[in-house]
Amino acid sequence: MHQGTKAVEERLDRFFRDKLQPAIYRDHVELSITAWQAPREPVPFDVATSQHYEAVELGWRFGRAWSTIWLKVSGSIPESWSANDERSLAAEIVIDFGYNTSRSGFQAEALAYDLAGKPIKAIAPKNSWLPWSYANKKIEFYLEVAANPDVAGEYTFEPTTLGDWDTASEQPLYELKKLHIARRDIEVWELVQDIFTLRGLMVSLPQDSTRRHVVTRAIEDMLDAIDPSDVSGTASAARKKLTTALSAPASASSHRVIATGHAHIDSAWLWPIRETVRKCARTFSNVLSLMDDHDDFIFSASSAQHYKWIKDHYPSVFEGIKKRVASGQWKPVGGMWVECDGNMPGSEAMVRQFVYGQKFFQENFAMHAREAWLPDSFGYSGSLPQIVTQSGISSFLSQKMSWNQVNRMPHHTFWWEGIDGTRVFSHFPSADTYISELSGEELAHAEKNFSEKGRSSISLVPFGWGDGGGGPTREMIAAAHRTGDLEGSPKVSMGTADEFFAQARSEYANAPVWRGEMYLELHRGVLTSQHRTKQGNRRNEGLLREAELWASYATLKTGAAYPSGQLEEIWQSILLMQFHDILPGTAIAWVYKEVENRHAEITRELLEIINTSLAALANDPTANTAPQALTANAMSVSRNGVAGLGVGVPSKSAQATSVVEQNEFVILENEELRVRVDRSGRIVSLFSLKTNREAIAPGIAANELHLHNDNPTRWDAWDIDEHYRNSKQVLDSVDEFKVRHEADGTAVIETKRVLRSASQQASTIVQTIRLEPGAKSIDIGFEIDWHENEKLLKLAFPIDIHAEEVAAETQFGFVKRPTHENTSWDFARFESCQHKYLFLNEKDWGVAFANDSTYGFDVQRTTEANGATVTSVRFSLLRSPKFPDPEADQGRHTLKFKIRPAATIEDAVSLGYELNYPAREVQGNRPVEPLVSSSAEQVVVETVKLAEDGSGDLIVRLYESTGGRADSRIAFAGVAEKIWLTDFLELPTSAEQVSGGSIDLQFRPFQVITLRVSGLQID
Ligand SMILES: [Zn+2]
Repeated sequence: MHQGTKAVEERLDRFFRDKLQPAIYRDHVELSITAWQAPREPVPFDVATSQHYEAVELGWRFGRAWSTIWLKVSGSIPESWSANDERSLAAEIVIDFGYNTSRSGFQAEALAYDLAGKPIKAIAPKNSWLPWSYANKKIEFYLEVAANPDVAGEYTFEPTTLGDWDTASEQPLYELKKLHIARRDIEVWELVQDIFTLRGLMVSLPQDSTRRHVVTRAIEDMLDAIDPSDVSGTASAARKKLTTALSAPASASSHRVIATGHAHIDSAWLWPIRETVRKCARTFSNVLSLMDDHDDFIFSASSAQHYKWIKDHYPSVFEGIKKRVASGQWKPVGGMWVECDGNMPGSEAMVRQFVYGQKFFQENFAMHAREAWLPDSFGYSGSLPQIVTQSGISSFLSQKMSWNQVNRMPHHTFWWEGIDGTRVFSHFPSADTYISELSGEELAHAEKNFSEKGRSSISLVPFGWGDGGGGPTREMIAAAHRTGDLEGSPKVSMGTADEFFAQARSEYANAPVWRGEMYLELHRGVLTSQHRTKQGNRRNEGLLREAELWASYATLKTGAAYPSGQLEEIWQSILLMQFHDILPGTAIAWVYKEVENRHAEITRELLEIINTSLAALANDPTANTAPQALTANAMSVSRNGVAGLGVGVPSKSAQATSVVEQNEFVILENEELRVRVDRSGRIVSLFSLKTNREAIAPGIAANELHLHNDNPTRWDAWDIDEHYRNSKQVLDSVDEFKVRHEADGTAVIETKRVLRSASQQASTIVQTIRLEPGAKSIDIGFEIDWHENEKLLKLAFPIDIHAEEVAAETQFGFVKRPTHENTSWDFARFESCQHKYLFLNEKDWGVAFANDSTYGFDVQRTTEANGATVTSVRFSLLRSPKFPDPEADQGRHTLKFKIRPAATIEDAVSLGYELNYPAREVQGNRPVEPLVSSSAEQVVVETVKLAEDGSGDLIVRLYESTGGRADSRIAFAGVAEKIWLTDFLELPTSAEQVSGGSIDLQFRPFQVITLRVSGLQID
């Protein structure tokens, strides 16, 4: 037989486009439309509907970027439309706002309301219809149209002014092209769905497979059976030609897919946070509407924050969700407040993502999520297995690792082992997407790509429009129905993630293990972009820890009220701002304006709580003693003679640091360190006097600033591409160089550099190098006024240490990263994440670095001509990408570092706390002993707070910080009725309890233990 399969495919595509799709709607009737434009920000339904509306016509151009337009639509069902036809000709409102692409969730979207203000369903590209009953003769409804601009366009990453109301143009972006009631020809529509599935299957099958040819011939017969001039009249006959092809059953060894409805809704990204509130309302209304028609449709949605917005602003939608959750059709997943960044949130913040997520699910839906759901975060820290497991979660889902540039992750279904050894059963959907439309191509990819073939036979496919929301459509459900048992296709059944994990685990309990962090080999710039947001995050994470510590202590000791509601609200705000496009610095300008302001407000609120609590704690109103300057020490270990987590009288400072000025150098020296700085501000020697050893590599200066061209090929705010290293400008001269002493004897060298450029405003970099009296570390501070474009600024420290790897802090521990490029995996990690500290060592002598707001760093090892090996650590201080925020990182920044030679890993851990939790001065007449203390220094008290249940119980979270074993006695400033161990949800993990003033605990490496203490009596 002559083949001609390609000809059939081309014939089908032309026919599908020109004849079939236009025949879906039989006929239509125009409606009358009036409009009102909201002045700027969205308003509630009642406000919007009490305004004066003016008539508009089709062709009306409307919608400046980010504006909101309300349309009131009215009309009636034509007399000629007989209700008897409703089953074959469904009445629907059809709308087109003049979209420029068919991507859903990135342009104008609308929510339709009935006259009582109840949301009906949303309108967006590929889902631009509303159901209407024939019985409802009179047509009347409202549309709240959000004129969201298409910020990404074709992803050319050109700078755009669209990312903020104030910079966007006033020009209307949309046109009212279509708004009418039409009759949908159900049989034609069903034929379209048949073809969607069969065409996708056909092109995914091998060219020489029998099945491919069978499907091709069925399609050819279908095309012959349909009359192009009477599609409606011949659709049934055409469908019959496809029956055999569609009913051939799948083979016994077919891959199985559990398809769960989903809508990835970025909590902010190319839209502001406020728009996400409406995106959730639109998406969730779509889902509820779809559930009315499909009992077997299951929908999974993460992020307690999204549900809370709906609860607060769209109560009728929330009631609908609650009903569907109760019936099992709607599954809250993830158990997190939002799908946050997977690397940068601090230890306790990552815990609270789950604590407040699960708390909301429990309070509103009487359930806890059983699976972590992070399909889109940019890499996953090695602490997550322990964190999710202690949060009541037994499975983990992601798919982002399929974006790796260099190496392919070896598994789709596996056990993920964290830095402490905890393992969580994990899955990456092998369809490599969380936005599937269940096309034949996607399903075929899910099977072909699945790494565990032969051992496991099942994968999960989340389907539904996403990123900008939207969710599943009736077309996707039709595709699921057609692929339930179809020869050549994976067998698709709609279900929950829970069902998927139960089946996958029972089939493949001995799945392979991936150990440690999951480093995403892409988006390495997200550790640096939008520095002020990262600094606000770090600062407020620290202040929250202090506020909870001192407020709990004040409550227990003085009876002061514990600001639980205020703290929870602040936490929720911080957790939202850790969303995977906010904290990484990859959202539009509007988002950062808002986030920086919110961080500043939160700082003020938290300082107020801290100061009030400390004042209450440190002052005994019944005592006659005069107040004096006391130090509150929020570190877990003592400092300046004040015990960790206590308030006391600081010891007197040591002898002033000496300064010797020579021609070429200035030398700062105290009992511990001698620092030699050249006249360009570079540190040429950092000598530990006690250990008689030099930290800086001989002949190579440290504290050097490197300016790189930073022009990623794609994804500007996201990516630092490897080729950035090929252009390095060393900022080796200074414009000013000053030396001074401060009142406390600290010696300071201050330099100023001005980066002049013809094309832009000059940047200035003021740096201080400080050596405090008696200090074992030096302090480096920056004040930078940054106006560079597409540049990356790095701070380099070549260290005279032969290190195979460096330890970079992550949540509740550290991850070790190689300093070499032996393998492609090592090579791909050319920019990595640290939290508060970085540590490198040779046996028992190391150097520790602490930072107050710098997450990105790189490390490389070199061998010098004299044979010396040098480990060079470079911190990424600032970037200046131009998309999506053209003003990213412009303006003022402050950054701080501490560097301590002759350090151990314990010193590194402490140094991180020391810099991020500075000693706080309080006037008081009453020193207070630590509320909690740990006898082993390596066991850190991370969190002290009151219980979430309002019982007044004290919650204490501790962890082993050095990767070793530890026995530690945890002692309290009083006697407790009961002390017992709990998980992160503060639920008991064993029946064992002790009473008294202390508890003895054994810690495994990096183990986190949470204690609940009730009836604690403090004098
Ligand atoms: Zn996302």
